[in-house]
Amino acid sequence: MFKINKLVTGAVIAVLVSYSTKGLAGEWIPIYSPEPNLDKGESKYGYSSEGRDVFTIQNKDGSVLNVVDIGGYGYVGDMILGDTATLKQNGFQLNTSATPHIHNDNSQFNSIQGAIRHTSSSYIWPNGVIPYVIDRSLGDQARRDFQYAVEHWHANTNIRLVPRTNQRDYVVVQNGGGCSSWIGRSGGAQTLTLANNCGRGAAVHEIGHAVGLFHEQTRPDRDNYIRLIWRNISSNMAYNFQRIGNHQGKSHGEYDYQSIMHYRINAFGIGGRRTIEILDRNVNEYNVGNGQRLSQGDIAAVAHLYGPQEPVKQCEVVAIEHNQSVSLAGTQGQSQCFKLSLTDSVKSYRVFTEGNNGDADLFIHKGQIATQSNYDCKSDGENSNESCSSQATAGDYYITVFAYSDFNNLTLNTVVELKDDDDPIDDSCQAHALTPNTMVTLKNIAAQTSMCFKVNADDNHQLVEFNLADGQGNADLYVKKDTQASLQNYDCMSASATNDEYCSLTAHSSTYFIRIFANTTVTNTKLNVTLKGKNDDSETYMGEISTKDEVDIQPNGQWFEYQGGSLTGLLHGDNQADLELSLEVWNESRQQWQLVKSSTEPQSVEKIEYQAPYGYYRFKIYSWDSQSTGQYQFTLKK
Ligand SMILES: [Zn+2]
Repeated sequence: MFKINKLVTGAVIAVLVSYSTKGLAGEWIPIYSPEPNLDKGESKYGYSSEGRDVFTIQNKDGSVLNVVDIGGYGYVGDMILGDTATLKQNGFQLNTSATPHIHNDNSQFNSIQGAIRHTSSSYIWPNGVIPYVIDRSLGDQARRDFQYAVEHWHANTNIRLVPRTNQRDYVVVQNGGGCSSWIGRSGGAQTLTLANNCGRGAAVHEIGHAVGLFHEQTRPDRDNYIRLIWRNISSNMAYNFQRIGNHQGKSHGEYDYQSIMHYRINAFGIGGRRTIEILDRNVNEYNVGNGQRLSQGDIAAVAHLYGPQEPVKQCEVVAIEHNQSVSLAGTQGQSQCFKLSLTDSVKSYRVFTEGNNGDADLFIHKGQIATQSNYDCKSDGENSNESCSSQATAGDYYITVFAYSDFNNLTLNTVVELKDDDDPIDDSCQAHALTPNTMVTLKNIAAQTSMCFKVNADDNHQLVEFNLADGQGNADLYVKKDTQASLQNYDCMSASATNDEYCSLTAHSSTYFIRIFANTTVTNTKLNVTLKGKNDDSETYMGEISTKDEVDIQPNGQWFEYQGGSLTGLLHGDNQADLELSLEVWNESRQQWQLVKSSTEPQSVEKIEYQAPYGYYRFKIYSWDSQSTGQYQFTLKK
């Protein structure tokens, strides 16, 4: 991991200039972040120097850095190094006005850590707290990606992103043509841009820049680990591959191919060509720069800057009875913990909160205290109405109510269903008949109620897919073959914190019952049931990944010639496994396989859809981590 130097001196002027050009605290000037011009080799991670002001800044250690001016700010890749006027005058200097000087890099970890953490003014965020504001311009998908990234940082590091109240220094998350961020805390308001197509991995990555991390492949020692293929990089994009001098950055730990801060192997390639060759043959090159998570190396580097992740404070546990309501108030950041002991006579439980203010989140863990990163069920929507339900076995269920922001007058409710009881939730939900492959819009479902459907499938197909998307609110999807689905009794289900739900079942000549349950009021969400396979020109293959290094080629270990058109690969792994899917095309002139597209969601289902030109193609299936092994089903539709 590459980390910012703590040894910069004489930066007071830079800080003052930086403040005066960026506006004083509270004034935020949106950054002009143009749409990338793909024909020029630009991407959402960086712009071409063609037709733009390119200037060279001289750093104190004698190194130089070529920077491109975009709308008054100096960019390298997706990193905003400062405003152009300040950069031209002072070079690239971090906001380090009061950083104590540490003259001995070999000093004990504790003293480094102490110096960083107790510094009142530097590029480091005091106590790891990063206040943020979501700008109105930010798109819905980017909001969800940012939320994912915030939770991911919270679960793995000491960094805390909190909604801004009146802090002087903060991050404004805005829409833009690409994804970009300042490096570390720059002072006053600073921008982080996320376009809707940036994705979760980029959201984690950009927060990494704001935290104070450079790109992994800018390390001074990078040439021992990667080789840049300059002939595939246009001269106007080459500045994005500069190394950062020793004066601006400091490496932490071994070179880390798994870092979220590493470029992809085809970053800024002419026509998507490969630009980075991975010298370590044991590394799965398709994972490089493609992840959505911090690596262990990233986590260690952030711990070096901000201290190790605080152990979760033990929460005092209060025993509660089932079918009981508890009234609660909470202050931001506070956890309140409860224990619900269930006997063998209980079939299922549902725990939910009801409140009309603030933002409470709900976590449940059987057998141990639930935390934000350790739970069997979580419900963390943007208000105080949360719900978790599951089949039950005898034992202690720990419930944690976390205050994402202050709330009061909240009730925590626990409802259980005893064995051999009728499923009461089924009584009132009339199943409307649906036609497969036709989208229906569900205009309005009241909070905590269901809307039910049924659809007929047949043996001529292989798979029934249930898709919910768009609209407002938080709906969950439950499906059962032959009889009504309930929240406790289903064959497949999907219950994310949004309306994006997907599950699928093997197709039989049967009726499939669908229940859409609204956790919060749901409007204008779209339901689509699709029959796939056999009749559909799709072929299904079974396979198994038995070790983390295994890579399966599909279909059947073969490549295939394709005349062109829509190409879809769908991977269903074991529920616990995180398998990934990528599509490659044969590059005749270079005599090698080239990555076209990959799908690396943190789950067991991956899907790639591609408008393919004529060519030779193959799919690759591989494991995200050593836990992710097991059998899978791969469906290819041409
Ligand atoms: Zn970056």
